[in-house]
Amino acid sequence: MNNFHYTKASSVDEAVLAGKGAENYFIAGGTNLLDLWKYDLTHPQKMVDVNGIEELKTITELPNGGLRLGALVTNNTTAYHPLVEARYPLLSRTILAGATAQIRNSATNGGNLLQRTRCYYFYDPASPCNKRNPGSGCPAVEGQNRLHAILGFSDKCIATFPSDMCVALAALEAVVRVTGPNGSREIAFADFHRLPGDRPELDNTLGQDELITAIDLPPRGYAEHHNYLKLRDRNSYAFALVSVATGYELEAGMIANARIALGGVAHIPWRVEAAETYLEGKAPTEASFAGAADLILAGAQGFEHNAFKIELARRTIVRSGMMALDPSCQRPGAPPSL
Ligand code: SF4
Repeated sequence: MNNFHYTKASSVDEAVLAGKGAENYFIAGGTNLLDLWKYDLTHPQKMVDVNGIEELKTITELPNGGLRLGALVTNNTTAYHPLVEARYPLLSRTILAGATAQIRNSATNGGNLLQRTRCYYFYDPASPCNKRNPGSGCPAVEGQNRLHAILGFSDKCIATFPSDMCVALAALEAVVRVTGPNGSREIAFADFHRLPGDRPELDNTLGQDELITAIDLPPRGYAEHHNYLKLRDRNSYAFALVSVATGYELEAGMIANARIALGGVAHIPWRVEAAETYLEGKAPTEASFAGAADLILAGAQGFEHNAFKIELARRTIVRSGMMALDPSCQRPGAPPSL
């Protein structure tokens, strides 16, 4: 039995004070943390319940034209918020492609960023796993690796990051606002999650005693041309084998700027800025997106059970780019067959 100390916070300051120290956890929706606890994968000494912090439950417009998503707003409330639907439909679609309605009603925006990999070995305490038990090995390299990475992995860990929402947040270049014992800071989304390298136990750059307070969306939302295409083993309640978030703006029929982010292929939402630059000035054609796909997937490498993802990702990038031309024909959760 894991004895722990439970505290309820009603303000950010209270939460940060109560959460100071190692092996302390903030809990909001708990949709992943409680699983980790029940599987005996985490052993908190102190649990700080942040669900009473009302100031983190709002979505507000920013003076620069962007939007601030409170960390405690649920995923469903965010996806269906009129401003998100109108100005950031790409974000709305990615959220609705994940989990189930019940889970999205509990899961929060801040928690979505912190969910852990769904690698089978990570959730099995009887297996070695460098992420759970550093130095113990990575059985996925020689074992079951269908869900695993084809980009950015290391010999220590080939896990993927499971979030859908974060794929859009990467494409939109969101900013994560956090507060800890040393004050508040902002983290560019590209710097929030980290590659496994030699420290696969670290998923992100957030301090253990730092609390995510909000996610800021920049003004550019790609509402006119966007798409999220998620390929998975079943059409509901499954993590992505490959997913692609695409957004671009057209001027005189040519791509003026573009963003492409991939999920299900790496330890982080995967973006290659050279591929986005490559698209500038080009017509939105299959050939253009195929060229971008070549740049995104340069260096991709498969393992015994996931090598198919390389070609799947290439096709998904092209299809998502073409589907973004007319977002009105897309239905969340019902991607066409490739
Ligand atoms: Fe653990 Fe990462 Fe290897 Fe999975 S891929 S077993 S999470 S070290």
